[in-house]
Amino acid sequence: MVPFLDLKAINAQYRDELADAATRVIDSGWYIQGTEVRAFEEEFAEYCGSKHCIGVANGLDALILTLRAWKEMGMLNEGDEVIVPANTYIASILAITENRLKPVLVEPDEVSFNLCSEKAASAITPRTKAIVAVHLYGQISPMPELMRLAEEHGLLVLEDSAQAHGASIDSRKAGSWGHAAGFSFYPGKNLGALGDAGAVTTDDQELAKTIRALANYGSHEKYQNLYQGINSRLDEIQAAMLRVKLRYLEDEIAHRRSVADAYLNGISNTEICLPLQSNTRQKILSTHVWHLFVVRCQHREMLRKHLERKGIKTLIHYPIPPHKQEAYHEWCVQSYPISELIHEQILSLPIGPTLIKSDVEAVIQAVNSFR
Ligand SMILES: *Cc1c(COP(=O)(O)O)cnc(C)c1O
Repeated sequence: MVPFLDLKAINAQYRDELADAATRVIDSGWYIQGTEVRAFEEEFAEYCGSKHCIGVANGLDALILTLRAWKEMGMLNEGDEVIVPANTYIASILAITENRLKPVLVEPDEVSFNLCSEKAASAITPRTKAIVAVHLYGQISPMPELMRLAEEHGLLVLEDSAQAHGASIDSRKAGSWGHAAGFSFYPGKNLGALGDAGAVTTDDQELAKTIRALANYGSHEKYQNLYQGINSRLDEIQAAMLRVKLRYLEDEIAHRRSVADAYLNGISNTEICLPLQSNTRQKILSTHVWHLFVVRCQHREMLRKHLERKGIKTLIHYPIPPHKQEAYHEWCVQSYPISELIHEQILSLPIGPTLIKSDVEAVIQAVNSFR
């Protein structure tokens, strides 16, 4: 059996270090907003090449709190339009609607699965105030072009970097391009905690301060509440886990790349459309961190069953586009043909930092034997 992602095996690699880190926190007697969180925030900000990092409870909160902070700072107002790719994970959109902002769904580039600046540009109206650039599947969006577009129109850019820790263009990493970025450390993400966790990165000190307060009951100083905040803090124990795992992130990305290269070189079945980087210019400069290896196939369900019979676990990211979800039933009349087609054809093959060579070979053979 080839597992889709073996979290147990991933964390077993670092068992002793994780256990030592957990023990350190248990013995410290300090479990919220202490030295582990501060240290992780510094280390992760440095990794991303960002001035500030604010640990929060999860990736969705990272996105919600950033947009909320921009509202508190007077940079966004209820009803403002926010451009977001139509094929994203629902969390990107929940963050917008939670803030009573208006998501404007934009079809992705069919090759990269990400926003492109041309399609984003055509969705801009006088009410557009921000872009949520989602780096889907581990490939960074075309940030130089999107930032240029944002600058021309005075838009804020929030990177949804939940799937793209370490992805870069021109050696500049995800999380350091936009005005802010939200990260998730959900266990299955490329940098995963042993529970829920998230963070915002930004170079904007005022924004960092506002998010920190909003995530802590709206309070900069204990018992003084400037905002009607929430409780969304990164736990000391998760920060301690993440500090261990951050040290191995680059090695894990390298392993994911070797798996992706093997698939790209080994899969020759013409029924399968392999993932590509978005254009030649970016192919040279941008790096993919392969959170997911997503192929397309006209007969996706048959391919899925074929692989299942061969003992290969696959998943679909994601089976239903946000505008077809019951939660947003008012959008069901809208049509996004590219996104809808993508959702019908995509299949995620196993990929991860502990996937062994013989399993990679088994996947390639099974995919190539599909007729
Ligand atoms: C996982 C994910 C999120 C949400 O992160 P959580 O930590 O699960 O709340 C947001 N956006 C994208 C693109 C994601 O993949």
